[in-house]
Amino acid sequence: MIIRGIKKELIRLLLELGKNSHPNEFAALLKEDEGVISELNLLPGTITGSSSASIFFDMMPLDTHLAGSAHSHPNGVCRPSDADINFFPRAGRYHFIIGAPYRENDWRCFTADGEPCELAVIE
Ligand SMILES: [Zn+2]
Repeated sequence: MIIRGIKKELIRLLLELGKNSHPNEFAALLKEDEGVISELNLLPGTITGSSSASIFFDMMPLDTHLAGSAHSHPNGVCRPSDADINFFPRAGRYHFIIGAPYRENDWRCFTADGEPCELAVIE
């Protein structure tokens, strides 16, 4: 499946989740529907401390329809940590990091190897 983009509503929801979880992280798995990332499965529980989201993913079963993941960085640094880069290849192709203060453009998308990538935002 070729991923064409991510739904704008989903980006809004991710920013909202980041804000609501702050100063903790949230983590979610993303699913695509007909090539558009449009759904999320929030991982349950509270994650405390920066860069610990990836540990959480170790407990998740992997799904073949998985498009990628999203998690927040309460420190506002929209770059993958070493732990993130180890985790990304195991959970799909596109990985979103949502950073404080969670404004409209406070997110970045990365490929599984941790390189920044542009993904279309679909209305
Ligand atoms: Zn991270």
